[in-house]
Amino acid sequence: MILKNTSEIDIVRANSTKINDVDFENLTFGSVFTDHMLVCDFKDGKWEKPVIKPYEPFLIDPSAKVFHYGQAIFEGMKAYKDENDDVWLFRPDENFHRFNKSAIRMAMPEVTEEIFIDGLKTIIDLERDWVKKGDGNSLYIRPFMIAIGSGVIANPSTQYRFMIILSPARSYFAGEVKVIIADHYSRAANGGIGAAKAAGNYAGQFYPTKLANEKGFQQVIWTDDATHTKLEEAGTMNVFVRINDTLITAPISDRILDGITRKSLIDIAKRDGIKIEERSVLVDELLTAAKNGSLKEIFGAGTAAVVSPIVGFSCQDVYYELPKIENSFANDIKDKLTKIQYKQAEDTFGWMV
Ligand code: PMP
Repeated sequence: MILKNTSEIDIVRANSTKINDVDFENLTFGSVFTDHMLVCDFKDGKWEKPVIKPYEPFLIDPSAKVFHYGQAIFEGMKAYKDENDDVWLFRPDENFHRFNKSAIRMAMPEVTEEIFIDGLKTIIDLERDWVKKGDGNSLYIRPFMIAIGSGVIANPSTQYRFMIILSPARSYFAGEVKVIIADHYSRAANGGIGAAKAAGNYAGQFYPTKLANEKGFQQVIWTDDATHTKLEEAGTMNVFVRINDTLITAPISDRILDGITRKSLIDIAKRDGIKIEERSVLVDELLTAAKNGSLKEIFGAGTAAVVSPIVGFSCQDVYYELPKIENSFANDIKDKLTKIQYKQAEDTFGWMV
């Protein structure tokens, strides 16, 4: 699909660009932003006309509900540039639908396709110089919505702001990832907001993750809140376990984010004859497999790193090292997915827009 401007969006161009000041070889993830941002306010029961304008801070009333009751949701996605300088989005409709699912759960208004999808295409078209070619380079896209209505009464806001900001990114190497399997803290509960990309879900993870960091682990693998006996997901990634030649990942529930990388890897595995099961992995099963040598790989899957192999995990204060294997499923399906994203392999699924 060709990226095009739409007359439904006002564009106020920045007078100058910051792009020449940016060292694209040395980017810290999510710290540099492009020249423009998209802003669209919800007031009197409807969305106003979106505007793309220079990236800048803005004022909000100190009593705005976002500060007190945490009505805030977001998405994370990427744009890629191919060898012909065409810019591509990966399954943006999935992010759009997930955003609105999050909005419903947080009692916020759903955004329209014109605002989210057309807004995305228009701002990325405007900022296309910020999308660099080459493996691992991308433009990270952060759509989000906050409650800007004032008043500290604990009820849903009547005013909201939807925005899109963009940040150039290099390929994301997390380094060696060691994880702790959660046995006390939880990320999400049955009937809670785990399946929403709600800001508070992330804040709630910072403290247990900090404790894990202090013990030399980079991340926590969350388990079910009721019994801590089933693996669920990592901080910003879904989790896959390979036992012998079978990949297993937890089923989607209201505790787990319906990851787009996860579902794409499942589709690729099915297409290529890799045995894949969507079912709970029991912590006991993981320990047995680690002890008898049938546990081959654990990896996280998400937009930022695509696939992040885990080198070892701690469970009840015992550390288990993963074997170093050739022909890893993690590398294989990561390679297949990124080739689709960079238009180096045929997009048989029709995912690229
Ligand atoms: N789980 C959580 C909690 C996340 O924040 C993310 C990142 N969006 C994921 C899983 C992976 O989702 P996706 O593949 O859509 O990036």
